[in-house]
Amino acid sequence: MSRHSRQEKLFGPEGQRKLSEAAVSVAGCGGLGTYASLLLASAGVGKIRLIDCGTPSESDLNRQFFYSGREGFKTEILAERLGEVDPGLEIEIFNGFIDENNVSEALGECDVIADCLDTIGSRLVVNRYAVSKNIPLAHGGIDGFYGQATFVVPGKTPCLRCILRGSDGRIPDSFAPVVSIIASVQASDIVKHITGIGDTTAGKMFTMFAGTNEYDTVAINPDPDCPVCGSSRSSR
Ligand SMILES: [Zn+2]
Repeated sequence: MSRHSRQEKLFGPEGQRKLSEAAVSVAGCGGLGTYASLLLASAGVGKIRLIDCGTPSESDLNRQFFYSGREGFKTEILAERLGEVDPGLEIEIFNGFIDENNVSEALGECDVIADCLDTIGSRLVVNRYAVSKNIPLAHGGIDGFYGQATFVVPGKTPCLRCILRGSDGRIPDSFAPVVSIIASVQASDIVKHITGIGDTTAGKMFTMFAGTNEYDTVAINPDPDCPVCGSSRSSR
């Protein structure tokens, strides 16, 4: 039995080959990024690029268990762990905070971006880049018992600028089971997109509220006046 034989029944040898040739950039190596990158490495994605500027702190460990007892950049610790998951995995890292000036260098060459960030400002920088380069973006966000995820396909679905509102400031509460579910939806969307098997959450928002066990998927609409994707959509 091969490493992916139990999964290959779902995606076929062709799907597994597509995964092995795919590159995913994981923006943010906090709770969402650790779970999502682990799932993508396990699924057989060939190349993963990890982007983060941080080092682990005690308050991260209720959900970012990979970092327990470790020091150094999160990207480097996580890269080591992912290499243990699949020794054949190609891993790249970028240590830095993503901004307008470095977003291209930070994300590198990739087929899909996983938005595992924790500020609206950096999410919108990545969103603008993804739409301009026509790169799909798997968004995930959490706040306490609440979680949401959607798969942005530039030119076809609403982008994050269409749907994200508010400003940064408050640090959200973080509950590991919610983080792991949302990261799982992101990883599932990415694998389904790469293999072409199954439906992603494109054009929809997966929402959950663990406090009362409510899970839903609702249609989302583009903002016709969106300064990021409005013109790209109407011109296609
Ligand atoms: Zn938009």
